[in-house]
Amino acid sequence: MSNTSADDFKEMHALMSMLQNLDVGLVILDRNYHIQLWNSFMESHSGKYPYEVKGKSIFTEFPEINEEWFRHKAESVFLLNNRAFTTWEQRPYLFKFKNYRPITGKAEFMFQNSTLIPLGSADGNVERIGIIIYDVTDIAVNRVELKSVNDELKRLSRTDKLTQLYNRGYWEECLDKEFKRCKRTGSTSSMLMFDIDHFKKVNDAYGHPTGDEVIKTTANILRETMRETDIAGRYGGEEYVVILINANAEQAFNFAERLRERIAKTVVHHLDFSVNYTVSLGICEISDKIVNHSQWIEMSDQGLYRSKEAGRNTSTIYT
Ligand code: GH3
Ligand code: MG
Ligand code: MG
Repeated sequence: MSNTSADDFKEMHALMSMLQNLDVGLVILDRNYHIQLWNSFMESHSGKYPYEVKGKSIFTEFPEINEEWFRHKAESVFLLNNRAFTTWEQRPYLFKFKNYRPITGKAEFMFQNSTLIPLGSADGNVERIGIIIYDVTDIAVNRVELKSVNDELKRLSRTDKLTQLYNRGYWEECLDKEFKRCKRTGSTSSMLMFDIDHFKKVNDAYGHPTGDEVIKTTANILRETMRETDIAGRYGGEEYVVILINANAEQAFNFAERLRERIAKTVVHHLDFSVNYTVSLGICEISDKIVNHSQWIEMSDQGLYRSKEAGRNTSTIYT
C-alpha cells in the first residue's frame, strides 16, 4: 500500500545522497570510457566538478591512468560480466590524488584499492562499469614503514657494529650456503681467514680505542680490495673471514697477497699515534675432502696458523 512511486522516489533520493557522501570514490563509465557519474569523494580529491568531467573520456581527463592496462582490465569486466580488482601493492593508485591526511602526511599521494563492477542492463549486456575507489593510505604507509623497520632490524642483526662487516653468525650462514652451492654445482670457491699480528701489543702500546681504529681500518681495506660478490665477515676480535666466490686457491692466494701488502703499507693515524701493523692469512679451496662448512673454516684456520708459525705477515694455502 505504501509502495507508491513517491515513496520509491524518496528512497531513491536518500540512497543517492548516501552514495554521494560515502567516504569512497564512485565513478560510472560507459562503454566508451566516458564518465557518467562522479561522486563528491571524487570531486573533492580531484578538484574537478561533476559537470567538468561528465561525458569526458577518463583517459583524457586523467592521463596518469595507463590506458592499455586499464582497458585490458575493464574489457574483461565488460565482456565477462566479472568483477576486477587492483590493489595498492600492484599499483599504488588509479587516480593520482594528493594525500591530505595529517597522520599519514608522509605519503605524497593517496594509496588506493579499487574495484571494477559490471553494471548490467535488462538484456544481460554490460553497458557500463562502476569503479569504487578506497583510500588505503593509512594501511599502506604503516605497511611500508613496518617493512623498512624490519629491513633495518634484519640488517643490524647481521652486521658487526665496529666494522660494518657481517657478524660471525650471519657470515657462517653464508658460508654454509656457499658450501652447499659448490657441492651441488661443482663450482670452486675459496675461503680466506686472517688475523692481525701481535694485536695485543697494539692495544698495550696505544690503548684500546686506537686498537679499535686499526680493526676498522683493516675492514675498510678489505672492503676496498674484495669484489662485490665476495662475502666478508668479522669472525672474532681481530680475525676476519672472506668467501671468495668462484676463486680457486691460486686466485685466492693472489687476493690474499694483495690484501696483505696493502695492510702492511698502511699507517693508521689515531690520537697522536701512527700505527704500522701486519696480518697473517690462511687460504683453503673447497675440495671433496671437506664434508661441511665448519671443516672448511678449520682448514683455513690451519693455513693461518702456519702463516703465524712461519713468522707472520705471510699467506699460506692449506694443503
Ligand atoms: P698473534 O700475532 O699471535 O695473533 O698475536 P695477538 O697479540 O694478535 O694475539 P691474539 O690474536 O690472541 O690477541 C687478540 C687481542 O685482540 C686480544 C684482545 O684483547 C684484542 N681484541 C679483541 N677484540 C678487540 C676489539 O674489539 N678491540 C680491541 N681494541 N681489541 C680487541
Ligand atoms: Mg692476532
Ligand atoms: Mg686473534
